[in-house]
Amino acid sequence: ATRAVWFRRDLRLNDHTALAKALEHTGEDDQIFLMFHIHPVLNEEFTVRHDYFFQTLESLVNDSKKLGAPIHFLEGDLKEAFQHLIETINIDSIYFNIDETGFGWKRDQEVLEFFKQQNIKTCTFMDHHLHGANEVTKKDGGYYKVFTPYYKSWKSLQKPAVQKVDYDLLKKTAVDQTSVFGTEAYDSLISKTKHSFEGVGEQDAEERLAQFLDAAIYDYDKERDFPAIDGTSQMSRFLRTGAISIRTVYHQIHEEVDFRKNTEGAETYISELAWRDFYNMIYHFYPNASDEEMVEKYKGLPWNNDEDVFEQWKEGQTGFPLIDAAMRQLNESGWMHNRLRMAVASFLTKDLLMDWRKGERYFAERLMDYDPASNIGGWQWAASTGTDPVPYFRVFNPTRQSERFDPHGRFIKEWIPELENVQKKYIHDPSKMPEEEQEKVGCIIGKDYPGPIVNHKTMRERAIEMFKEEK
Ligand code: FAD
Repeated sequence: ATRAVWFRRDLRLNDHTALAKALEHTGEDDQIFLMFHIHPVLNEEFTVRHDYFFQTLESLVNDSKKLGAPIHFLEGDLKEAFQHLIETINIDSIYFNIDETGFGWKRDQEVLEFFKQQNIKTCTFMDHHLHGANEVTKKDGGYYKVFTPYYKSWKSLQKPAVQKVDYDLLKKTAVDQTSVFGTEAYDSLISKTKHSFEGVGEQDAEERLAQFLDAAIYDYDKERDFPAIDGTSQMSRFLRTGAISIRTVYHQIHEEVDFRKNTEGAETYISELAWRDFYNMIYHFYPNASDEEMVEKYKGLPWNNDEDVFEQWKEGQTGFPLIDAAMRQLNESGWMHNRLRMAVASFLTKDLLMDWRKGERYFAERLMDYDPASNIGGWQWAASTGTDPVPYFRVFNPTRQSERFDPHGRFIKEWIPELENVQKKYIHDPSKMPEEEQEKVGCIIGKDYPGPIVNHKTMRERAIEMFKEEK
């Protein structure tokens, strides 16, 4: 028998449920066909996220080639591509890790029906999360809308074990006929990738995790909010592409971290992994959350649509240094620190009163770790329109955030060279510099760096008013 294993957002060979299971069901006379489908939507847009994703795919393709188990490419319309596969290779079953939300979920529904009609057996697995959308439920069987009780229940459940892949068997049974399917579509995608990223693929993911578990995790609870410190794991890009499995991350923590030294760092870290599962669950049950406010009464909020203001936010030209530094970090590196994602999202929605959907879409274009469930969750949280959001009357003060989380302005100066010589006492609000000071440090407000484009106090009141009226 020939079993196909379909790689999707799980671009690794280690601890891969579908691959491990397919091998478990394979004898030495059977065959394994590794494949990836290049969807036509990829020719419509090619963002930083796609660039990063395809560099990760390239890394997997090279690793599997080295192992002697090459990946084959299907392309074009999904059903036609699989029809071609079935006509060319006599597969009798297909193994893959399912998606529970968004585009991936819709595609899976479509294709499952197709395989049924074709009499191809499908073996699907829950692999991307520690707990899938339907696993953490309330006593009455319903799903949680608030994180704290969800987390309590999440914590009490046993976590899935690492899935060992039998590489020797894979080498022996892999179909090696790449010439039949060709690599033109893949080569063309790889030729479109142009950014250079820090940390791509399975090996980099494992190294970065080891490095984090060796030191920074112990102070994670204390340092995770300071963007100038390398205090977070940087795992999101690897989890998004599947270069590392979430089970590996979870179990490595328990193997590597010395819990006698301290437990707060690791415990806080594990709760963040639960947020990832929580938002996946929320998006599964609110499939319209990418377009609609989750709280019914906030569906018609009169957001501002001023494109000029939106441009200033995007470009990091608002005159609020922490906000601007964060947006420039995003534009240049494809990543942004969590504290800053909260700050810029709050700024866009509450200080500029702009539609959170615009921010969500911009992050989708720019983030290499863009994950619809977490991103929509984060944006609706900041806009106070989601499940368990920040209350609308607790508006972040962008200057105060800057003083608290970048007290010396180190992060600001890293991304805004115009402010390099500004003294600490002015770094959170350079517009307060007297004229002679501006000249002395070579930063004229309004010329070299903008003054604040809004007054926070006024906008805070207007935001609260907008929500109150809707109530
Ligand atoms: P760490 O602090 O090391 O956390 C470890 C892991 O836990 C992360 O890799 C991530 O998988 C998970 N995690 C941490 N915080 C959250 C959270 N609030 N929600 C869900 N999962 C979390 N995360 C994405 O992966 N993709 C996104 O597109 C995304 N968009 C966001 C948009 C907004 C407005 C906000 C407020 C948050 C968003 N997040 C998103 C969550 C979070 O900011 C990132 O996961 C985190 O900054 C990634 O860096 P890290 O891996 O170093 O995180």
